Amino acid sequence: MNIHEYQARDLLAKFNVPVPAGIVVDSPDEAAKAFDELARGGATLAVVKAQVHAGGRGKGGGVKLVKSADEARTAAEAILSKPLITPQTTAEGVTVHKLLIASGVDIEKEYYLAVATDRAGGTPVLIASTEGGMDIEAVAEKTPEKILREPIDPVAGLLGFQARKVAFLLGFKGKQVGQAAKIMTNLVKLFLATDAGLAEINPLILTPADADNPDGRVLAIDAKVNFDENALFRHPDIAELADPNEEDPDETRANKFGLSYIKLDGNIGCLVNGAGLAMATMDIIKLHGQEPANFLDVGGSASEEAVTEAFRIILGDAKVKGVLVNIFGGIAKCDTIANAIVTAAKEVGFTVPLVVRLEGTNVEPARKILEAAKADIPTMTVGSDLTDAAKKITAAVA
Ligand code: GDP
Ligand code: MG
Repeated sequence: MNIHEYQARDLLAKFNVPVPAGIVVDSPDEAAKAFDELARGGATLAVVKAQVHAGGRGKGGGVKLVKSADEARTAAEAILSKPLITPQTTAEGVTVHKLLIASGVDIEKEYYLAVATDRAGGTPVLIASTEGGMDIEAVAEKTPEKILREPIDPVAGLLGFQARKVAFLLGFKGKQVGQAAKIMTNLVKLFLATDAGLAEINPLILTPADADNPDGRVLAIDAKVNFDENALFRHPDIAELADPNEEDPDETRANKFGLSYIKLDGNIGCLVNGAGLAMATMDIIKLHGQEPANFLDVGGSASEEAVTEAFRIILGDAKVKGVLVNIFGGIAKCDTIANAIVTAAKEVGFTVPLVVRLEGTNVEPARKILEAAKADIPTMTVGSDLTDAAKKITAAVA
């Protein structure tokens, strides 16, 4: 589950990571007012930032530095008036509903800092680089040696010597070392305490020296945090941070019914039980020259109601030119699926070809149910096995 930058900044602040002040708004007038309020707190510079779940906003015009309330209003108008297209969105872009007006800071240098899970090592890992900012992906690809990785003991957290070692390797000096080490330790605490999948600060910055801070200050000015959905039940406060505006409405609908649904670009809708079988089904569709329109795992204990909802979602996608049902009945029962097919046919109607391959628990009653409904579902054919079913559906949409 993803959250917005402003929510991630609140979370960082809660874990004692320093972040500049910010105000969330949803109109240009409010943006101007927010600038004035930050100015009263001493800011002479502010940043108007699109709050969307996609990254790379700076490159798409979604992050603008402003020096007056009027500039803040103009920048807000520009960002809110059209979809934001960044290297991480689709070509159509995403609608911006909210802006963060943050106190701006002068930057001496930008760094990258994150905590993620190292699946190969089986531990959390602290990732850090002196090459922070908007091109970290290119750094990882072209000069991977510039990315430091420090494994973290999941019980002990980041140890003091590890944090100081990484701070020195990043080139921090004097009082900067303690500030950076504390941020790293606290970012790891946040990651572990919230069951995060990623806790990223990019950029972490060093400000120029001033009278109060002869070594400068180390601050987080952008943050991205996401969470393991399987652990959300332990964090109702975090679950509340979800923004339905940012989710695909069909994926949200599917989640409500306990279905794992991910929309894809192809034109063959798939209804499958089990994530592994769903992957194999997508592979075999591609092997036979077509593309899946979705990943859909109805799970082991899907009710007829949930499966019917799954058909509604698949058939509601205008791109879908054919549907492949591939069920290996174990805990899931083939007759449940067959009944859902009949209900979906009555409610929504299969105007596109439907190929059904069922095996396993209760397959005989399922076949009878489908046989009896044949007249009502004229576009339905039965696949004798997975290859036969894949050949039939790919041929039907070709
Ligand atoms: P992203 O492009 O979505 O990752 O958005 P960021 O919040 O990281 O902003 C992109 C870039 O804008 C940063 O890497 C900075 O170079 C710049 N930027 C953001 N906030 C400030 C600020 O307060 N002061 C200055 N000088 N630059 C900023
Ligand atoms: Mg950033």
